[in-house]
Amino acid sequence: AAPVAIVSGLSRASRIGVVIRGGGALENLGHARTLVMDKTGTITTGRPTGTDIVAAPGLDPVEVLRLAAAADQVSPHVIAAALVQEARMRSLTLSYPTDVVEEAGTGVTATVDGHRVTVGARQLPPDASAWARAVFARSALDGAVVVWVTVDGRLAGAVQLVDPLRRDAPRTLRRLRSAGLNRLVMLTGDRPEPAEEIGTVLGLDLVCAQQTPSDKVAGVRRERESAVTVMVGDGVNDAPALAAATVGVAMGARGSTASSEAADIVLTTDRLDRLADAMEIARRSRRIAV
Ligand code: ADP
Ligand code: MG
Repeated sequence: AAPVAIVSGLSRASRIGVVIRGGGALENLGHARTLVMDKTGTITTGRPTGTDIVAAPGLDPVEVLRLAAAADQVSPHVIAAALVQEARMRSLTLSYPTDVVEEAGTGVTATVDGHRVTVGARQLPPDASAWARAVFARSALDGAVVVWVTVDGRLAGAVQLVDPLRRDAPRTLRRLRSAGLNRLVMLTGDRPEPAEEIGTVLGLDLVCAQQTPSDKVAGVRRERESAVTVMVGDGVNDAPALAAATVGVAMGARGSTASSEAADIVLTTDRLDRLADAMEIARRSRRIAV
């Protein structure tokens, strides 16, 4: 091995905001063949461009948004941040939530103004009323993220958010393939419809939706049986999977602290293309090293 190549690779990476925790991580990255990624905030921008609120009959959609955003104020999830942002844009006053329980990758339960509020991506209950089923059917068509809001145990409404792909995602994934990552896998906590749509657009090799944090760990372990595996993610719910990968990469700019701490590599700018830069640096250091 040529330590000089490693040191210079690490320093080149750090100059573009890619923090690599040790030469071993750089070397492993250079040998990686499989990339596992999550969706929201990693492949998509996590900055929704359109928001549509539907309330149950008789309820005020703005009040549904207000309660949901209030509950989500302490969540590190990008969708939570988007709800809070939407409420701020509408100048809504958000009460402080108490007794907050976050189920990583699913949503939040909290008390707001004396009401128990849940917000998140739960499955539509089989007895859901017609309006809720209509929301679901429509969002399936346009690949939107749907966040259900319940108040005191009853479905109160849904917020739909259009979370676009990162503009550079197709190009970045092509670069990653040319740099040696010949298997691309997406593991997302979101529903199958938007996940599969993205999988088709990006030509991914495998897409798994509705993944819990432990499903993501199992998925990464499965991939590791056949290849050196990189996992890139942004959420608290991704932290265990990042730790399970040969090389864990955190989207560190807006992602959770937990994912950054679990990672071997942190992209400190909100740019997915830095992963391709890092991969190319790793490959070059490897060529020099052997
Ligand atoms: P991914 O794995 O694609 O990054 P996540 O597992 O982080 O997605 O989240 C899956 C879905 O769960 C999101 O699309 C979102 O709808 C929902 N979700 C998770 N946490 C929250 C939250 N705090 N508030 C609202 N929705 C949430
Ligand atoms: Mg995510």
